[in-house]
Amino acid sequence: VSPYALAIHGGAGALALGRVPPDRLAEMRRDLSAALEQGIAVLERGGCALDAVVSAVSVLEDSRVFNAARGAVLRCDGSVRLDASVMSGKDRSAGGVTLVRTVRNPVRLARAVLERGREVLLAGADADRLALELGLATEPSSYFVMDYRLEQKRRLDAGRNDREAARSFSDGGAGAPDEPGLEGQTVGAVALDASGHLAAATSTGGVTNAEPGRIGDSPIVGAGTWASDESCAVSGTGAGEFFIRSAFAHEVHGRMAWAGSSLELATRAALDQVVALGGHGGCVAIDRAGHLVAPFTTLAMPRAYQSRGGEPHVYVLEPCVAAGGAGR
Ligand code: ASP
Repeated sequence: VSPYALAIHGGAGALALGRVPPDRLAEMRRDLSAALEQGIAVLERGGCALDAVVSAVSVLEDSRVFNAARGAVLRCDGSVRLDASVMSGKDRSAGGVTLVRTVRNPVRLARAVLERGREVLLAGADADRLALELGLATEPSSYFVMDYRLEQKRRLDAGRNDREAARSFSDGGAGAPDEPGLEGQTVGAVALDASGHLAAATSTGGVTNAEPGRIGDSPIVGAGTWASDESCAVSGTGAGEFFIRSAFAHEVHGRMAWAGSSLELATRAALDQVVALGGHGGCVAIDRAGHLVAPFTTLAMPRAYQSRGGEPHVYVLEPCVAAGGAGR
């Protein structure tokens, strides 16, 4: 029997700092389980890896507790702008969208860009327009904005003002560490299907209080997302600028394809580079044999995985351990 397997993440961050209330953590666990179930159901009925990752990520985009589509973080002007990408390991076809504002499931639009086979990355109003043309579901901006995100931004703005005040009234107070990037909750998935093909998908609202035009690693093939049947499929999460600067997901591929590294060593080494540049984060990744890993350098990374014939595993606050392997 051919193995198949799926792993998903709900963003590298600092949930363990206790900033997230227990009911939201419970909702994360529930929605991660639902996403895993949907993705695995696709693989079980012989569906392809690309369909599985898009289906799993869509569930997390519809959830109110992750930083993707509904529930996304707010930019400095209070707007929500969404990024997503998908890649198929079979032929390295890829699609990404960035700074979209109306499409309900950016990962489905990224998939449509892949299917169209013309552009790889489509931005802003043009991408939103394509969603309309293709008949994909769209939503008003109120659909994406959750009260707790407004509150999070208010706290952050207040903290910043306090720090600015402290800085101007004393000789430069150190202030509390910035909250952006700490909470994480970007989402992503990687899968191996029964035909031996790999795929990856990532979706995010970016980072709280970022410039409205800021683009992170998530929509960028080779940075936040990668899949090649030669090596592995990877979906990254964390401080996006560092993932772009280290070509993170492609770095994992290169180490496996050219240096013969194992998936575990390749993802660790690629994360070490992110850290060496001053960043933090994590990823889920899978190789051709169905081995799964989910390393992260932050305090937490909600994640879930399941392999053919195996039990579902769902983690929210649990520390970083090897994710396990697929049934062979
Ligand atoms: N990597 C995402 C970005 O930089 C954010 C995250 O994963 O938390 O947009």
